[in-house]
Amino acid sequence: KLSKRIRGLTAGTGDGWSIHRRAVRLRAQGMPVIDLTVGEPDVRTDPEILSAMDAAARGGHTGYSAIPGTDALRDAIAARVEERTGVRTARGNVLVTPGGQSALFSALMAATDPGAEVLFPDPFYATYPGTIRAASAAPVRVPTRASGGFQPAEAFLRAGLTDRTSAMLVNSPNNPTGAVYSRATFDAIARVARDADLWLISDEVYDTQVWSGDHLSPRALPDMADRTLVVGSMSKSHAMTGSRVGWLIGPETAIDRIADLSTHTTYGIPGFVQDAALHALSLGRAFEERIAAPFRRRRDACLARLAGQQVVGVIPSGGAMYVMLDIRATGLPGLDFATRLLDHHHVAVMPGESFGDAAAGHVRVALTRPDHELLAAIDTIVALAGK
Ligand code: PLP
Repeated sequence: KLSKRIRGLTAGTGDGWSIHRRAVRLRAQGMPVIDLTVGEPDVRTDPEILSAMDAAARGGHTGYSAIPGTDALRDAIAARVEERTGVRTARGNVLVTPGGQSALFSALMAATDPGAEVLFPDPFYATYPGTIRAASAAPVRVPTRASGGFQPAEAFLRAGLTDRTSAMLVNSPNNPTGAVYSRATFDAIARVARDADLWLISDEVYDTQVWSGDHLSPRALPDMADRTLVVGSMSKSHAMTGSRVGWLIGPETAIDRIADLSTHTTYGIPGFVQDAALHALSLGRAFEERIAAPFRRRRDACLARLAGQQVVGVIPSGGAMYVMLDIRATGLPGLDFATRLLDHHHVAVMPGESFGDAAAGHVRVALTRPDHELLAAIDTIVALAGK
C-alpha cells in the first residue's frame, strides 16, 4: 500500500489539468488548438546559453558537482538578489536547486514539522497543496477576492492561524491571478509572520515580470530577512524551464542545514547546467527584459482587446504571464466553459477551479502564444461567453 504522503499528492489540483492534457493530445493529432494552459515561455533557451552549457560539458564539468551549488553560481545569484532587493546577500545565503519547485519543497521541509499547518492565499499555484502534503504538513487556504485584486487581507490571514501554523507561503507576482502584492499587503503579511512567529516562504519565480514599478521582496522588510525563505528560478526569467535551475535564499545557518536535505534527495544539479546558468546571469537585466517583453506586450494587447466589451470581467494583471478572466456572467463553472471552448473552438485555457475556490467562475489565460493567436483566442472567449 502506498503511503498517505504519496496518495495525498494529487488531491486539491482538480480536474482542470484534463484540459491541458487533452489540448496536448489534440495538437499531437494535428488539430490547430491554441494552447494557453501552461506557463512556459514560448521561446527556447537562447543559443548563447546552450553554447555555454555545451562548452562546460565538453570541458569536463560532467562529474558530481557542488551540492549547494558552485561557488561562482551562488555568488552570482547572491549578487543578483542583493542588487534587486538591497538586502545583504552572500554565497552562504544561497542554495542552488533543481528549479523553483525543488526550492519550494526544501523550504517547506525546513519550515514545518509533520502535522504543522501552512497558510497560503487562494487562488494558488497548483502544486502548493501537494507540495505541502509531500512535506507531511497540512495546507490551509486563505481566501482572497477578485474585487480586492486577489490581495490577501490581514484579517483573513489572522483568521487562518492556529497553534499549529508554522509557515505562510505567498507568491507575488502571482500565478494564476497576475496580482502583484502592494507594499501594504506585504506589510500586513510581515506583521502576521512576526506576531505569530512564522516562517515566510516567498515564491518569487516571476520577479522579472512586473508590469509597473519594481519587484518587491518581503525579505527586504524590517526584521524579515531572518524568517524569510525566498524561492527563485531561471525557468521564466531566462526561458530555461527544462534546465531546472532554481534557488532558495535564506539565513545562512538555515541554508547550511537545508543543503543537507539536497545531499539526501537531489544531490545537486549538473555542473554544466550550473555553468550555463552562470553565463545566463552574466547577460544581466537587459537579457531578462528581452525575455519578459513579449509577455508585457501581450498582456497590454489582451487588456486593450477586452476593454470595449461587457461580457467577460477582466482582472488587470500587474505581473506574471497570465490574465484571469471572470466568466461568471455565463453561469458556467470554469471547467464547463473551458471544456466547451476546447471542444467547439479549439482554444485551451485553465479553469479557475484548478487554482482554488476563490478562482471559481474564472479562467486563466497564459500569455504564451504569439500575439495573433492570443488575440484570436480572446475574441473566441468573448464570443462564447456572450452566447
Ligand atoms: N512557483 C510558481 C508560482 C510557478 O508558476 C512555477 C512554475 O510554473 C514554479 C514555482 C516552479 O517553477 P520551476 O520549478 O520551473 O522553477
